[in-house]
Amino acid sequence: MSLYKMKKDNFISIVIPVYNEEENLEELVKELKTSLKFQKIDNYEIILVDDGSEDKSWEIIRKFSEKDKNIKGIRFTRNFGQTSAIYAGFQNANGDIIITLDADLQNDPSDIKKLIKLMEKGYDVVSGWRKERKDPFLTRILPSKIANWIIGIVTGVKLHDYGCTLKAYKKEIVKNIKLYGEMHRFLPALAHMVGAKITEIPVNHRERKRGKSKYGLSRTFKVILDLFTVKFLGAFQTKPIYLFGGIGIMLCFIGILFALWTLYDKIFLNVWVHKNPKILISFMFFPMGVQFILMGLIAELLVRAYFESQDKKPYIIKEKTNC
Ligand code: UDP
Ligand code: MG
Repeated sequence: MSLYKMKKDNFISIVIPVYNEEENLEELVKELKTSLKFQKIDNYEIILVDDGSEDKSWEIIRKFSEKDKNIKGIRFTRNFGQTSAIYAGFQNANGDIIITLDADLQNDPSDIKKLIKLMEKGYDVVSGWRKERKDPFLTRILPSKIANWIIGIVTGVKLHDYGCTLKAYKKEIVKNIKLYGEMHRFLPALAHMVGAKITEIPVNHRERKRGKSKYGLSRTFKVILDLFTVKFLGAFQTKPIYLFGGIGIMLCFIGILFALWTLYDKIFLNVWVHKNPKILISFMFFPMGVQFILMGLIAELLVRAYFESQDKKPYIIKEKTNC
């Protein structure tokens, strides 16, 4: 069962992050509008988020929005990154279904209806899968394959293509998730944490014809680091002491064990402490264990400050009766 029920005639928001895409914008908007018309989607808005472009992207967006009230523009003061652009789009979206799409025409807008159909079947998140991806193999496809595999194992949400921007979300999902760093690609995993029903579907992918890709290999490291955050938030956000305290107790235990071993060596084998390196291990592990437990307690304070200052609940209710 999906988290949220669908209406009959859904309003669709299409969120597009834009950074220096002046060569692509005209064709993007034209193709998108024609394609939506062809797919009989006429209840929509297009939100173009200019992520601090240094080229003419914003002028083009403004021109389009003056001619068409369904095209909305948001402009950042500087480049904050694709994740922030998508997040701003989410915050300003009015749709029941929110679709994200790249501005460089690599995603095919004619796939949108496919995603919407799956949402209507009860999914809360539908992720595109660039089955035949048109990007360089060594620097893009291979690292992405490895990353998807690791993300699947760590988060428990196995998708072929976390990196594909073409995805669809129900509004309740995106309105409840905050995004930092490179985290937009983890949205399905974050959605899974709030109980969403997720699926994926192969989508068309095209070569970038104009403009340059904004990313290289270095992104992979950011993605892996963000993965730690996602895993930590998912598993221990409300009880960090279980993680830190657990490690702390284990380290203290090892420390005590080695201290006792040193004592045994002295009593029964007559090995003096200053000649027994085991005591070093004990001295290292025990204080480290204490530190971990204290860190866990500080984290507990932070969690309380976070949840209580914003009156956040550590749970999400699906339905109620007679309340
Ligand atoms: N993008 C953005 N801010 C950035 C980098 C990229 O808004 O700092 C946008 C970019 O304009 C494009 C999308 O994010 O619409 C994906 O970027 P790109 O095509 O460079 O990534 P790739 O497809 O090569 O992974
Ligand atoms: Mg691209």
